[in-house]
Amino acid sequence: MKKYRRTFVDDPLVIDSFESIERYLIELLERKLDSLEALKKWLKDKSELEAVIEEEMAWRYIRMSIDTTNDSFQKAYTFFVTEIQPKLAPIDDQLNKHFMGASFLSELEKDPAYAIHIRSVKSQLELYREENIPIQAYLSEKTQEYGAISAAQSIEHNGAQLTMQKAAILLKEQDESLRKVVFEKMATRKHQDDKALNELYSELVKKRTELAINAGFENYSDYKFKQMGRFDYTKESCFDFHEAVETHIVPLVKKINEAKLEKMSKDKFKPWDTAVDPEGKAPLKPFKTGKEMLDGTVDVFNKIKPEFADFLKTMEKMEHLDLESKPGKAPGGYNYPLYETGAPFIFMNSVGSQNDLTTMIHEGGHAVHSFLTHELELTAFKNFPSEIAELASMSMELLIRMD
Ligand SMILES: [Zn+2]
Repeated sequence: MKKYRRTFVDDPLVIDSFESIERYLIELLERKLDSLEALKKWLKDKSELEAVIEEEMAWRYIRMSIDTTNDSFQKAYTFFVTEIQPKLAPIDDQLNKHFMGASFLSELEKDPAYAIHIRSVKSQLELYREENIPIQAYLSEKTQEYGAISAAQSIEHNGAQLTMQKAAILLKEQDESLRKVVFEKMATRKHQDDKALNELYSELVKKRTELAINAGFENYSDYKFKQMGRFDYTKESCFDFHEAVETHIVPLVKKINEAKLEKMSKDKFKPWDTAVDPEGKAPLKPFKTGKEMLDGTVDVFNKIKPEFADFLKTMEKMEHLDLESKPGKAPGGYNYPLYETGAPFIFMNSVGSQNDLTTMIHEGGHAVHSFLTHELELTAFKNFPSEIAELASMSMELLIRMD
C-alpha cells in the first residue's frame, strides 16, 4: 500500500498529550480563508490532522477491545477520551465556525460532495454544547464497561474454560442434554452480571438523556438521529417499520416456528432449542482456525473481484486482523477504518461456526469500502453514516449467498 505523505502534520508525530496537537489546531484557527484555494487547502490540512488524530484513537480502541484485561491499553484509551478529546471539542467547534464564516463557502457548496460536508458541519454546530463535553467524555469511558464485563464471562465445560462465543456453538448440537447443560451454565454465568449491567445501562440512559436535553432535544433518540447524520428519515419512520414487522413478519415467524416444532416432535421450545437444526442435521463447521476462515474468504472474494481478495491479503500482511474468540476479548465484530493508512482493521470473535463466515464477509464488505474510499479528498468524506456503511457490508453478504 502506498503510504500517504503528510504535508501539514509532522511525521512521525507522537500524540501523548493535547499539547502535541494544539499548535496545528491554532494554526488552522488563525489562518485566513481569503480565496477558494485557501479554503480548500485549509480543509485538506484539517482533514490530514483529523486522519492522524482519529487513527491514534482507533488503535487505542482496537488494542483495548482485543484485550480488555490489559490495564495499560485501557488507560491509554481512557486518557484519550477524557484528556485529549474534551480539549479538542471546543476548538473543533471554533474551527467549524471559522469554516462556516468563510466568504468562499457558497462557491464551495456548488460541489455536491462539499455541500454534504457543509450540511454535516451545520448540524455539528447546532448540536455543540460546552456543558456536554464532560458528559461525552464520561460516556465514552463508561460504554467500554459492557465489553469488559462481557469479555470476562466464560464457562467451564468438560474440563475446558470456554468463552461465551465458543460455548454458544454447542447450542447447535443435536444432543439435547448437552445443549441443556451448556445453556444453563451460560445463563448462570450471565446472571452473575445482571446487577452490574442493569446499573450500567440505567446510568447510561440517565447521562444520555441529560446530554440530549442540554442540546435542546426532548430525548436521546431525537438527539442521536441528528448526531448520526440521519437527514432523510425520523425515529417515527422506524416505529412505522416496527409496526409493519409486527403485522406482517411476526405471523410468518410463528408459522415457521410451528413447522420447526413439528419436525422436532415437541409442543414448545426450550430456551436451548433455538439454535439447533430442526431436521436433525449436525451443525455446519466450515473451518477450524481464523486463518482457515480468512483464506476461504480470500478465495470467495477473488471470484467476485481479485482486487477485493488483495485487500484482505494486504490486511493480513499488515496484521490488521484479529479474528478468533479468546479470553478477555470484547464481544462482537467490527471493521475500524484507519483514515490515514487506508487499510482498515477487522476485529471479530470467530469460533468456527457458519455465522462467523457471514460476519467475516460482512466486515470484509466494510473493508473493501474502506479501501475504495481511501483516495477521497477529505477524511470527512470517508466518514459516512451507518446507512451508507452497511450498504457495502450487507451487499457483500447478499452477493455471497451461503445457504
Ligand atoms: Zn456492519
